[in-house]
Order: sequence, then C-alpha cells, then structure tokens
Amino acid sequence: MSRFFSDLVRNITPYVPGEQPKDRRFIKLNTNENPYPASAKVMEAIHSVTALEARLYPDPQVTELRRTLAACHDLTPEQVFVGNGSDEVLAMMFPAFFDGSDTIAFPDITYTFYPVYAALYRIPYVNVPLREDFTIDFDGFPQDLKALLIANPNAPTSIAVPAAEIERQLQRRPETLVIVDEAYVDFGAETVIPLIGRYDNLLVIQTMSKARSLAGLRVGMAFGNPDLIRALECIRDSFNSYTLDVVAQRAARAAYEDVPYFEKTRAAIIATRERTVAALAALGMEVLPSAANFVFCRWPGVAGEKVQQYLRDNGVLVRRFNKPRIENWLRITIGTDEEMDEVIKLLQRFGSL
Ligand code: PMP
Repeated sequence: MSRFFSDLVRNITPYVPGEQPKDRRFIKLNTNENPYPASAKVMEAIHSVTALEARLYPDPQVTELRRTLAACHDLTPEQVFVGNGSDEVLAMMFPAFFDGSDTIAFPDITYTFYPVYAALYRIPYVNVPLREDFTIDFDGFPQDLKALLIANPNAPTSIAVPAAEIERQLQRRPETLVIVDEAYVDFGAETVIPLIGRYDNLLVIQTMSKARSLAGLRVGMAFGNPDLIRALECIRDSFNSYTLDVVAQRAARAAYEDVPYFEKTRAAIIATRERTVAALAALGMEVLPSAANFVFCRWPGVAGEKVQQYLRDNGVLVRRFNKPRIENWLRITIGTDEEMDEVIKLLQRFGSL
C-alpha cells in the first residue's frame, strides 16, 4: 500500500472477475459468455470500419445504434443509453441517481458488482436476504427506498421473477427507482421494457455480452424515460464522452439486426440448458430452475470447492462464490452440447468416486 493511496482505494474491495486463462485450454464455463461466435454480420460490420473512420473520434451520442435499439423495442432514441458494457452503465447509474444520503436495496445474493459500486460512490445499501428457496423476497424490501435493484433472472441463482411482480413494485413504490438488470433476460425471462412508457420510475439495463455473443466488444444499454437517460448522459459527459468505440458501435448494430442468428443461438442454448438440468438432476444434483444461460447447482453433502477443483483438474472452469449459503453451489455456464456432455461425463465420474 502506498502513502499516496486515497482513503477510497485503501478501503474498497474491488469486484473479482472470473478467470480468463491464458496458459492452457479449458472448457470455459465460468463467466457466462455465449458459446457461439458473434454473427457473421458482426464480422462484416467490423471489417467495414475504414482507416479514415479510425482516425476520428466516434459518435459520442451513439446515434445510429440508439436508433436501432429504439426501433427494436418500440421506444424513442431519447429513451436509450449505451455504455461500454452494462458494467459501465451500472457504474454511471450510481452517481447519476444517488447521493450519500440515499439508500438503495438489493438482494443479499445477487450480482457481486452492485455492492462494489455502492462502496465506490459511498451510497448506503440494504441487503434483503433471498428466501429459503433463493427467490427474491419483495415484501422484505423497506418501503422508503431511493432505489430497488434486482437482476432478472437473478445471478448467480438463475431464477426469474414474472414481469407482473415487477409491475406491482413499480405501482407500490412510485417514489422508488426500480432498476432491473436484464443481462440474461433473453434466455427465458420476460423483459419489462414495454412498461417504460407507463412508469417513470423504471430503468432497465441490458447487455450484448450474453445473448448477442459480444462480450469482447463491451456494449451495454439502459432503457428508461428520457429524464433518467439524460442523467446518465450527464455523468458520461462528465467522465468520458467516448465510451463506445467506432467498431463496437457498428458491430453492435449488426448484432441487433441479425435477429435470425440471435433466435437460433439462444434457442440452442435454452435446449442445451434443459438437457443439462435433466442430466444433472439425474445424477442426484440439486439444480435451481434456470431462466438464464447458466445453471446454479450443488451436490448435497459435498463441498462445492471439491467439485470445482475436480472439474478444473479435468479442464473445465466453473464459478463458485465463497459466500454464506452458496459456498457449496456452482454456477455453470451453458456451453455447446459437446462441452456440456463433457461436464456431465465428468460429474458422473466424480459421483462414482
Ligand atoms: N449484470 C449481471 C447480472 C451480470 O452477470 C453481468 C456479467 N458479469 C453484467 C451485468 C455485466 O455484463 P457486461 O458488462 O458484460 O455487459
């Protein structure tokens, strides 16, 4: 630790991303990436960027991409914000809407970046425990909140809540900003984007990293009423006006426009997930009902660390969170059919050891 560190750096515990190994080849099921490559149309778009365009700064308003996103969701471009991955959108959301005197609440088991951002901006937060079955306890959230933040489907549990439940919260809490992180929504949950026109307290966050196979290009979005979007733009333009480069802007449009490829790959992932869930359950594993591109599972009575290490020793990376209640659970990203066959085979072997 250097004497030059700020108090903030001295005290914060940063987010720990999943491992991106370089030394050996693994079946990589630890960061919820899409097992299928980006659409061919995305590669065409990337190659269409000219040297002259690379010379210039990108469009800070991300006009074309916002237009495409708005058209796809029946919104206006003023209801759309784009950032460098949804992590950046989340990072901008905290200072856009909250001061140190505000309180934001999210479940105790959810995306582990939320408490990191809250700490970074010194925003107090309340953790509401998930119920025994790992579903969100909406009635457990205090009434006088500045914001309620949920991931739907939740991570790492993979469980979705119905849009009707979120609408009930929007109605019951008109003074609370309800933020729904829909990173995994395309794999089986219901988006609340259609509610944006009716509720000015709703902000929806999505990403191209999962269902659009674009994690490497870093593109995330927020959808909400134009006032909310203006606040995000205010933070962006006070921080870095050019968060999305010219390649990412063009490629993301192509990814969104290639609907057939999106439909084909997400259907394949859903089918592989269903098959995987059945196979894991047949081995005696407990698997939560998944609406995402990953499953959350455990072997009752067996240390999660042991199962994770066995898989790693045999070339498969999965994620585990060393947290009370879930330390024995594994989050396994859905890969290709061949990759999941290998995982199932290994777990079968582990079970018979
Ligand atoms: N929200 C959730 C719930 C996530 O799991 C992730 C992926 N780690 C993100 C947001 C961030 O995704 P990205 O920054 O790639 O858009």
